[in-house]
Order: sequence, then structure tokens, then C-alpha cells
Amino acid sequence: MNNASLLQSFALDKSGRIRSVEEVTRGLACNCLCPVCGEDVIARQGEVREWHFAHSSGADCPRSGESALHLAAKQLLIESKGMVLPAQQVRKEVVLSDGRGGTGESTRHDAWIDFMDIEAEKPIGAYRPDIVAMAGHTMLLVEIAVTHYVDDEKRQMIEDRRIPAIEIDLGTIERHTWTWESLREEVVDGVEWKRWLYQMDQQILELEAQQKAKDDALEQHRLEKTAKYNSKPRRSRYFIDNRIVDVIDRPYGPTIWSPYDPALIEKLRPLMLSAGGRWDKRTKNWIFPKEADNYIREELGKLSKLPPELLNP
Ligand SMILES: [Zn+2]
Repeated sequence: MNNASLLQSFALDKSGRIRSVEEVTRGLACNCLCPVCGEDVIARQGEVREWHFAHSSGADCPRSGESALHLAAKQLLIESKGMVLPAQQVRKEVVLSDGRGGTGESTRHDAWIDFMDIEAEKPIGAYRPDIVAMAGHTMLLVEIAVTHYVDDEKRQMIEDRRIPAIEIDLGTIERHTWTWESLREEVVDGVEWKRWLYQMDQQILELEAQQKAKDDALEQHRLEKTAKYNSKPRRSRYFIDNRIVDVIDRPYGPTIWSPYDPALIEKLRPLMLSAGGRWDKRTKNWIFPKEADNYIREELGKLSKLPPELLNP
């Protein structure tokens, strides 16, 4: 938590709406209250310090900045009637009864989701999430963390009941003032500070990844049988758009392997077609003629960029 310097950017008006300090009249005429203690606040819109609300008595009301921010985020989410969900991913490993192993990965991209219905503080058993939204027939819980994060007990309940849930972490962001725009960027449109407590498509992703892992293990077997000299195929690794892309020497020609990602497949398509490659539906690999080997590796090298987590270990 580094909100010691958080100013109060939002306050409650007399009709119960949260207002930004930027949209109210200056001074006491802002007609707003502190949502924590109920005292009148003054809109400070000076030229030196950043704009903020201050208690009219000069009282230091601890956590009023955080509480107002939390209420503002909830109001914004309810009124936006949707949000961008972060990417989802499941990886599975399988070992078949004869010892052959394989891995599979299934993913979904970031995507906007419409809320059909949305409510604040609606209880789910003994638990009261910040937001309960309905997306089609699916319930989605949204927690907005400014000072309080979802604890282990709630997390367990969410996992046990398999309820899709997201936590938006505003407490870690280093800002001391907020506007509706900056808040919208993090709460509605962005994904940087959102993390899944339980993924929306978790169950279908598990099935898909499991199937891919099984296919991978079965493929392993066939290759070992057909490889004449070297049972371990040569493998070169590239990173394109933060994805692993491997060139693997197979007995039937070099292939490109990457975790299944339609956008990446499209990106590689022109290169593969120009090199006489073809898409193999069964193995979900690009296969290309041996003559194009050097060319392909050179082109992939140009596209390849190490992901930041590997550059800064
Ligand atoms: Zn107060």
C-alpha cells in the first residue's frame, strides 16, 4: 500500500451521487459531503496543489480518500454497463499410462463484456462482493481493492462454487489524485490491474487444454517411432508477441509450434505461405519444406523479441 499521499478526489453530493472534484463548484459551494464522516467538504481548486476535497473543519479524516475512490469505482462500473475482461489461460500436463507426456494450453483474449444486470453489495450467502453482474446467464463478481483485498476464505468460496470473479487492484497504483478518466482507464477499459480470482471460461478452458495435452502426448509417441537416428528433435526457440514459437525438426520436415493463438497464426501465415509451408490441421502446426529452413529461421529471428520478464529477471 502506498496511498499515504492519496488526496480525496471524490465526494458525495446531497443526492447521494459520487462527484469528482473537477465537476463541482469551487469551495463550500460544491455542496458535497465526506462519505466516511458525513462532514461538509470544500472543493480545493487552486493553482498550486492538485485539486482535491478537504474537510471544512480542517479535520484529518483517515481513509476518506480511499473510501471515496472505492465508491467512485463502483459507481463508474455500474454506469458503464460492462468492462474489458483480462485474458484467460489454462495449461495442462498429462502423462499417459505408458509414460508418454504432453502439455496443452488453452486461452481467451482480453474482451469486452456487456452486463445485462448489475448490482452493488448484493449478498452471495454470507459474502457481499462489491459488484454482482450478470453477463448473459453467467454471474460475475467484481471486487475493487483499495485497502481491502479478497481474503483466503472468500477466495476459497469463489473457487468451491466456481463463480467467475475479478479483483481490480487500485491500491497498488501510484497516484495521489484521480479523475473519472483515469479511473475509467483502470476499472473499465484496461486490464493491467485486473486479476482473475476464478476465470470466466475456466471449465471449458480446462477441457480444451486437457485434450490438447493428450493429443500432444499421443503425437510424441508417433514421432519416437518414426525418428530413425535422433529421438530428440532439434528445437529452436523464438518469442513473438510474448508467445513461444519453436521450430522443430520433424522426420517429415521442419514445423513451427506455438501455443494455440489465432492472432499469431494469422501473423505467421504470409511468411509460411511464401516459404511453401502449409497449415496442418491435425497437429495445429505449420509444416514447411526443408529447403526453406534457413530462410524461415532468419525471418522468425527478425520478428522475435524477448519478453520483458526474461530481459529483467
Ligand atoms: Zn470525513
